[in-house]
Amino acid sequence: MHALGRGASTMTPADAPTRHLYVHVPFCARRCSYCDFSIAVRRNVPVDQYLNALSLELASHKGELVLDTLYVGGGTPSTLGGSGIARLIDLVRIHASIAPDAEVTIEANPDDVTPDAACAWRDAGVNRVSLGGQSFDPAVLEWMHRTHDADQLPRALDALGAAGIDDVSLDLIFALPSALERDWPADVERALALEPSHISLYGLTIEPHTPLGRWHSRGAVAEADEDAYEREFLHAHTALTGAGYEHYEVSNFARPGRRARHNSAYWRGVPYAAVGPSAHRFDGTARSWNVAPYVEWRDRLARGDAALGGSETLTEANRAAERVYLGLRTTDGLESSDAELALARPWIEAGWATLTPARTIVLTPLGWLRLDALAASLTVAGSY
Ligand code: SF4
Repeated sequence: MHALGRGASTMTPADAPTRHLYVHVPFCARRCSYCDFSIAVRRNVPVDQYLNALSLELASHKGELVLDTLYVGGGTPSTLGGSGIARLIDLVRIHASIAPDAEVTIEANPDDVTPDAACAWRDAGVNRVSLGGQSFDPAVLEWMHRTHDADQLPRALDALGAAGIDDVSLDLIFALPSALERDWPADVERALALEPSHISLYGLTIEPHTPLGRWHSRGAVAEADEDAYEREFLHAHTALTGAGYEHYEVSNFARPGRRARHNSAYWRGVPYAAVGPSAHRFDGTARSWNVAPYVEWRDRLARGDAALGGSETLTEANRAAERVYLGLRTTDGLESSDAELALARPWIEAGWATLTPARTIVLTPLGWLRLDALAASLTVAGSY
């Protein structure tokens, strides 16, 4: 469901255990209108079959993983249900050590969050849930082909809270086509009223090969214009920071102490392991990824073959570009060289960045709206 994380340049000793594991669960009950992820649409989720294949892949990591964070993403991991997630985490524990204070996150759709499921997840060690809410507007949810209705979101938060899972991240999508007449400030208000510990924002992009892409290509829907994108992003920044959230990464807001630890590891560029169809990993030097189709991933593992789909070793230029991009996307900022600082001076004058006393460049919300262009200009001009 989420598309976060890029590897980068930070190295760890070759024999150091990997501290972060991503597990991909590919199943969704139906495809959302805007989604181009590699998913497996299943009315009946083949839990046993999936877990058997996952167990085979995890066995190849035995002894390498000492986890500070475990992130179960998708797809929709909550389609595995209470016992399916518990069995998945048991499998991880067979092949890896999970630190007592580890962050253990699962992604969930609101309609899967029942009181029983929430208790089973808590008992299995889940202490953080990322909820795909997207909007509270019934017409918008229907247009998105979401499987939940607006009332299921508060009920899901209630069930998680009652189970003792109080670290809940809520996803919202902004910059929808104007024809939908979505009231973005009202959605932000409703999100704030639920008091989640974390909120992630995603600007809608229209991808080909999705239902939305097809509607767009025949002229039935138009993308939000840049002004609307900027207005909604800045409105969310003002409303959420005004309510006490830190805007700590271009797309993410957290209550103090509730930043996402797993995704923060991606943004720091440290190594992470990954299992499941289409899962991407980074070992400090190279990125690699599994084959994406669920059936191919499952069958390769059953035959005793590797699930690897490809790999790339980062060049010096790749590393330099990632250092800039990752640095600029969070409030940790980019420690700047003299050349970078000279290039960034106009940004500071334009209100797109600030400079700390330690010469770290930190983008402002106006700068984040130009993140790709600013990162590219530093990389191209730079000195690499
Ligand atoms: S829930 Fe929707 S957006 Fe998320 S992965 Fe499934 S189809 Fe895609």
